[in-house]
Amino acid sequence: LPVVAIVGRPNVGKSTLVNRFLGRRAAVVQDIPGVTRDRIPYQALWNGKNFTVVDTGGWEPKATGMAASIARQAEYAMKTADVIVLVVDAAVGVTETDLAAARVLRRSTTPVILVANKVDDERGESNAAELWSLGLGEPFSVSALHGRGSGDLLDLVLDAMPEAPREQDDVGGPRRVALVGRPNVGKSSLINRLSKEERSVVDSVAGTTVDPVDSLVTLGGEQWRFVDTAGLRRKVNTASGTEYYASLRTEAAIEAAEVAVVLLAADEVISEQDQRVITQVIEAGRALVIAFNKWDTLDEDRHAQLEREIDRDLARIQWASRVNISAVTGRGVNKLADHLKTALAGWETRVPTAELNTFIRALVQETPPPARGGRAPKIKYVTQADVRPPRFVVFSTGFLEAGYRRFLERKLREQFGFHGTPIDVSVKVRE
Ligand code: GDP
Repeated sequence: LPVVAIVGRPNVGKSTLVNRFLGRRAAVVQDIPGVTRDRIPYQALWNGKNFTVVDTGGWEPKATGMAASIARQAEYAMKTADVIVLVVDAAVGVTETDLAAARVLRRSTTPVILVANKVDDERGESNAAELWSLGLGEPFSVSALHGRGSGDLLDLVLDAMPEAPREQDDVGGPRRVALVGRPNVGKSSLINRLSKEERSVVDSVAGTTVDPVDSLVTLGGEQWRFVDTAGLRRKVNTASGTEYYASLRTEAAIEAAEVAVVLLAADEVISEQDQRVITQVIEAGRALVIAFNKWDTLDEDRHAQLEREIDRDLARIQWASRVNISAVTGRGVNKLADHLKTALAGWETRVPTAELNTFIRALVQETPPPARGGRAPKIKYVTQADVRPPRFVVFSTGFLEAGYRRFLERKLREQFGFHGTPIDVSVKVRE
């Protein structure tokens, strides 16, 4: 189950908030400074979604001091949780201890929601505003005791939660690459050249005579697993394969891979079929490297023409890594590894929530979303819900037009890179 960690110094109302989340008086003990308490997980249910709430209490303030203790609490939450809720007592205001927690959490790549507790009525809202100074974005006011705002907070927590629980990155093993492209662009030639360096292949079933499915290749000092290359290495009658089967095969290879190399033939016009393969990679959410093969055949005229085609036909994937190679001469083939690494790095980038929101806040101030029907939507919060590829969720008080969403995507790319990876920006409307 996804884990929500509640972080905060004693007496800010963490237990009361946990009880609110659980919807009943659970056996959560009072926050008493100096009382050592375990990090007890509680099962919670909201809007049909199950999750675990952990009150990261557990204090040894005498031994270490409050600030150090809360810093550790925050570190622990960053390692284990899918969403972190930092609770601050708005009636008391920002303390040294809150600052210590915020300092740690500003680095967090896990979404952090800043809660201003004990805002029992409208008058308390001005206290909450002070919490902006923590650098964790907009403080969300609640009264855990009276329930004010707690339902909305739970909505926000669920929205910030990744679709799947915290993904364990594949440990070890070579990165998986799909080599795809329409017939005759040179896929077989390239895989044969790459495999020449390293003859090892991987059997689908060890010790059987079944066709080896993947090829292990050393490139740039690293091993890479080129998936589903059986047909490419032996070049089985592609002529008899219809485009339909070729497309299924491409899809399977892309699915099995983390990054796809789309091979294009530099001596031919970029075609519809090339575009379809590129679209398949984007829709599967894989990192993308574009390799122009047969570069050895290029003369100056064709080169100039190709540049124009790239500007016109590949404008939608300006972010993709591009490399020019020749499977025949071996030119540029060694550079492929760097492009694969760049694309994978972009694919796995996680932007710290605080950094993301600081950036978006400044951006929105400069260029606010256009008003529709007299009312301009307000962007409240952005979270990166996922990686591989990066997915962002923008919380807004109203619908954001496609043009403005594209603007946000472009600015996110300018700011944070994401070279070689598709990214996704979606909007959730909250009043
Ligand atoms: P596949 O269908 O994508 O696997 O393409 P093949 O590897 O069978 O290559 C199609 C044709 O292009 C063959 O005749 C290759 O010899 C030729 N070819 C492949 N790569 C290159 C290259 O880098 N330069 C040149 N000049 N020809 C190439």
